[in-house]
Amino acid sequence: MDAEQFRKYGYEFIDWLAGYFENIEDYPVKPSVAPGDIKKLLPDAPPEKGEAMELIFSDFREKIVPGITHWQHPGWMAYFPANNSPASVLAELLTAGLGLQCMIWQTSPAAAELEETVMEWLRKMVGLPETFTGVIQDTASTATLCALLSAREKSTGYSCNLKGVAGKLRVYATAETHSSIEKGVKIAGFGRENLQIIETDNEFAMRADVLEARIKADMEAGFVPACVVATLGSTSSMAMDPVDAISVVCQKYSLWLHVDAAFAGTAAVVPELRGFMKGVEHADSFVFNPHKWMLTNFDCSAYFVKDPEALIRTFSIQPEYLKTGADERVHNYRDWGIQLGRRFRALKLWFVIRSYGLEGIQKMVRTHVQLAEELSQWMMADGRFQIMAPVRLSLVCFRFNPGHFSEEQLDSLNRKLLEQINASGEVYMTHTSLRSKYTIRVAIGSHTTTRIHVKNAWEIIRKAADELINPNRQSN
Ligand code: PLP
Repeated sequence: MDAEQFRKYGYEFIDWLAGYFENIEDYPVKPSVAPGDIKKLLPDAPPEKGEAMELIFSDFREKIVPGITHWQHPGWMAYFPANNSPASVLAELLTAGLGLQCMIWQTSPAAAELEETVMEWLRKMVGLPETFTGVIQDTASTATLCALLSAREKSTGYSCNLKGVAGKLRVYATAETHSSIEKGVKIAGFGRENLQIIETDNEFAMRADVLEARIKADMEAGFVPACVVATLGSTSSMAMDPVDAISVVCQKYSLWLHVDAAFAGTAAVVPELRGFMKGVEHADSFVFNPHKWMLTNFDCSAYFVKDPEALIRTFSIQPEYLKTGADERVHNYRDWGIQLGRRFRALKLWFVIRSYGLEGIQKMVRTHVQLAEELSQWMMADGRFQIMAPVRLSLVCFRFNPGHFSEEQLDSLNRKLLEQINASGEVYMTHTSLRSKYTIRVAIGSHTTTRIHVKNAWEIIRKAADELINPNRQSN
């Protein structure tokens, strides 16, 4: 493709995307396709000769788009959001066009220094103290793995990298912790059995007293307690572990404290919502995902550490071919995580923060939080809906409980309710289980979601619920 064609298709694709953003509500949030439907449309073998962009683009529109799930749809209320924004998409286009590998300062000085700068901005935006230094990772899963590996090395005097892991190191988290923690524990060689699950209180938050008792018992039994992973904003219910109380225990027994605020972290940009961050200043590491709620398209995870040396000692490699004269004076981010090659992710963060300003991001978060509050009030006023966990930030966990149903029947009723809700095509919600009760989650956070969409979601929920218990009556 020559420059002229590139320009032509570039304009065309941006045009298409602009129309997509404008008309996204015309698509059902979730496609109605069965497994294998899309693959059937695609050839088994790659083309022998290059094909025309015209044809590739029309296949994209006709074969791929009908099979995608529209994460930027205003009716997106599933899992957690992965919102993007026009500013972020444009920056991503530039990143792809520049095609940098940001592994060391020398491979792109501006990328390394922009990353330092935007991570400083982010640190200030979420109210972390100056004792933290940030680096961009691809995902929270990777950031947490980095924390686990650093904790593993620090707790063993940096010997595991050399000698491998002995089976005595322990990690502590709750059953509400994201699955990436268990995955990280397995990959880092702690062993699944050494992930100790700490009891939660009635708001699904870790009990610091139980944590301390478990650490003591483990030490007496010859284990080495290495790391606690506390969650701020658990995936199921937005539970907030008491980081301040947990940090006291971690300091007393010299454990690494990692805080996973993958979704909730963005809310810390709003001063009046920042209360949940209490104690984070005592953590060793902290992660949150601008790629969830901060208008920055996937992937972009902000990982902050107190002691970059612990991170660098864990990951540093010094092959001759990567040594440069600037190494002593710069951040070589290849030593700040798992990958060597790194994308220029700082650019999209820079574009987003500059284009929205702190005020724009705060406004969006405040709106979503207010909408979740309103939705829960409508549910409670109806009288037949049960709020299943304290409503925090922009997540509402509920079930339909019109009375006279057994727990088993309620599970099945709510399973059907969720199917009906999602069959509307106008919204997409997902479920979880809280204290073994089937629970529907409404996670508000798409940057396109407004009060109209949440009101519509409530109408869909209410109507579907009415129809479930009065199948012959059309509700209005
Ligand atoms: N931690 C929490 C609390 C999450 O909710 C999630 C994903 O939803 C993750 C970690 C994993 O995030 P990522 O996809 O960036 O690895």
